Amino acid sequence: MRLRNRVLLLGVVLTMAVAGFGAKSANQKRLERLLKRAMIVDLHSDTTQLILEEGYNLGERHDYAQEDIPRMREGRLGAQFFSLNPNVRRLTALESVKRGFDELDAVRNEVRMHPQDLVFATTADDIVRARRRKKIAILIGLEGGHMIDSDPRVLRSFFELGARYMTLTHFLNTPWADSSTDEPLSNGLSPLGRGIVAEMNRLGMMVDISHVSDKTFYDVLETTQAPVIASHSSCRALCDAARNMSDDMLRALAENGGVVHINFYAGYLDQKFWEETQRLEERRRREQAAAEALYAVDPRTGGAQLREVNRKYREILPKVPLSKLLDHFDHAIRVAGIDHVGLGSDFDGVSDLLPVGMEDVSKLPALIEGLIERGYSDRDIEKVLGLNSLRVMREVERVARESRNEKPFSPTAP
Ligand SMILES: [Zn+2]
Repeated sequence: MRLRNRVLLLGVVLTMAVAGFGAKSANQKRLERLLKRAMIVDLHSDTTQLILEEGYNLGERHDYAQEDIPRMREGRLGAQFFSLNPNVRRLTALESVKRGFDELDAVRNEVRMHPQDLVFATTADDIVRARRRKKIAILIGLEGGHMIDSDPRVLRSFFELGARYMTLTHFLNTPWADSSTDEPLSNGLSPLGRGIVAEMNRLGMMVDISHVSDKTFYDVLETTQAPVIASHSSCRALCDAARNMSDDMLRALAENGGVVHINFYAGYLDQKFWEETQRLEERRRREQAAAEALYAVDPRTGGAQLREVNRKYREILPKVPLSKLLDHFDHAIRVAGIDHVGLGSDFDGVSDLLPVGMEDVSKLPALIEGLIERGYSDRDIEKVLGLNSLRVMREVERVARESRNEKPFSPTAP
């Protein structure tokens, strides 16, 4: 190469490097600004079980699990919905009710133990107020209608105690709603199920359609007076799992004014990973069952053993890059619209199988960075991080205010 050409080439390379650096530092500034300004709301985590069963202290930093106060602070989390889990495979409906109360007590007790960092919240305004006081808002969602034992009075009790959404099913059907991972029983939402959805609207409890069958989903949209949420679901067009939402469902959810909160579980993000987990499922279940049996008598030792099984499968299974998670945000935003997408990490509920770079709540800034790099405006990113969730909460609260004079639902009323 002649000297003149070499100098020219060097010039081009240098210009590109400076431009690249400029873009990077501009992005860095945006990230810092967003981390200060944005309200991050996560609609779903399963840390509750650790608190109840293993005496997991949210105030301490742990080298396992995905959420505790130090890491929530690092991730700049503004609000977290802790889910109450019915454990449908082990418990009867009535036992699930009691289990729900135990879990709710455990979460509220953690909030009481850490008043400098946490505050219990039940409304969108509570979340905003918590933020002003530099605290993390903690909210409750019921994961699975099993926990109300088909009884609207139990539903009302959970609402009074602070629960603000209910996922209508979990992995198994409830007697009044079909799950996406069970054999159809009610052909979607039964008449009792419709009554329960209407009662949730009246109370101001968000209807969560994560986990339900497609038919139940469409029945819910036909029934509800308020926008609904998917608290932790991703996109079926990118990963064909029944737990994910089809494009048609995403569009219907948007039309209802609802919000899909993207699940971070690697198995719902990446088709190859999903197929691998299906192939290994039986083997993994067997190993998990042994640890779970131990868990039932000695939760701490059993918990450690479960995490050991998880670690092993994390090694075996393919690595899922963070870009896959961003692809789901991109896709949901493209199909449902920027006003209808939010965060539903499912932290501590996914056997530690998360994308590389999103191993726990402290890594949330990487998601913001990714959204900046994909060209979203600050305003759009703020919507996805939390404003959309606050908006849907406010609309649900408004519908409840407007139905103040309606009678409580009773399945046996004449
Ligand atoms: Zn779930």
